[in-house]
Amino acid sequence: MSFLSFLSNDIGIDLGTANTLIYVKNRGIIVNEPSIIALEENGGKVLAVGKEAREMYGRTHQDIITIRPLKDGVIADFEATEIMMREFIKKAKVNRISIGKIVVCVPSGITEVEKRAVRDSAERAGAREVYLVAEAMASAVGIGLDIEKPVGNMIVDVGGGTCEIAIISLGGIVLHTSIRIAGDEMNEAIVQYFKKNYNLLVGEKTAEMLKCEIGSVMPLEQEITTQVKGRDLIDGIPKTVEVNSAEIREALMDPVNTIVESVRLTLERTPPELASDILDHGIILTGGGGLLRKLDELIQKETQLPVNVAEDPLTAVVRGTGKILTDFNRYLRVLFRSKRV
Ligand code: ADP
Ligand code: MG
Repeated sequence: MSFLSFLSNDIGIDLGTANTLIYVKNRGIIVNEPSIIALEENGGKVLAVGKEAREMYGRTHQDIITIRPLKDGVIADFEATEIMMREFIKKAKVNRISIGKIVVCVPSGITEVEKRAVRDSAERAGAREVYLVAEAMASAVGIGLDIEKPVGNMIVDVGGGTCEIAIISLGGIVLHTSIRIAGDEMNEAIVQYFKKNYNLLVGEKTAEMLKCEIGSVMPLEQEITTQVKGRDLIDGIPKTVEVNSAEIREALMDPVNTIVESVRLTLERTPPELASDILDHGIILTGGGGLLRKLDELIQKETQLPVNVAEDPLTAVVRGTGKILTDFNRYLRVLFRSKRV
């Protein structure tokens, strides 16, 4: 190990469609913020990033634009992605000249061109070496699975823009499905539900809050009721209505069923030996969507397989990058043996 590598900062980044997390080696998770930036319309000056930019989201006037650079599971805006990554690294208080390695996890469904763009952005942010890791592999490491074993594991990551279903074994991804139905679609389904059933226009943030606070996918022992504020579509006046968790469940039905169906289809395509491993070990749910009430039970019911939600599913990927950086030589051999992702 060279003297320089003691001084340099190695960083792991989970570049998610909803949230970006940064792990700095020997320091832990330093950044955990929504993947949003706010820019000045003229000139493109960066006004805010992360939480601060989210506060502006949907509330800006015409001179400010807020962007989610990775909105639909793909990099919708390359330049904004680069700016966001740079700003978050700044927030992590890592001097760009001190950066050594950057391990970046990206949605597994992205194209070669998008991968190239992420790699270039990381280099321009100051990285001396850039390693791209498939999210499913990073979360498997984060969860503590022994990825070098010839044992099949199924990881279902329900994020903001995409749901990624992967079967992994021997340090690699054997089978992978990515659908663009995940947390954002659930929010949208809630917005549509209120339009249709209450003639009420609710904001995206309200929909997200309802999903997280009273959302579920199977009946609850005790259904929950809450107040929802929105704007009446007929007379345009702000209005409050009362809804219960059964209604939100109905609203979430379509996107949730699509996710469950994808899990089933992926299982059908799984080679028999690995399928029998999954029968023994079950399915692991990660990503923020894994926190949706009873999603584990529903998948269990529909697949007849044991389903477990990863501990702290929102940080599984970035914790994985932390472990990869800490034990880099071992993972270098396993994760990057054939080619760089
Ligand atoms: P990404 O990797 O795409 O950035 P995350 O894994 O960070 O996504 O998950 C973000 C998604 O998880 C968002 O759509 C958010 O609404 C959803 N989420 C977070 N907490 C909960 C919860 N308690 N119940 C349901 N969904 C949740
Ligand atoms: Mg993610």
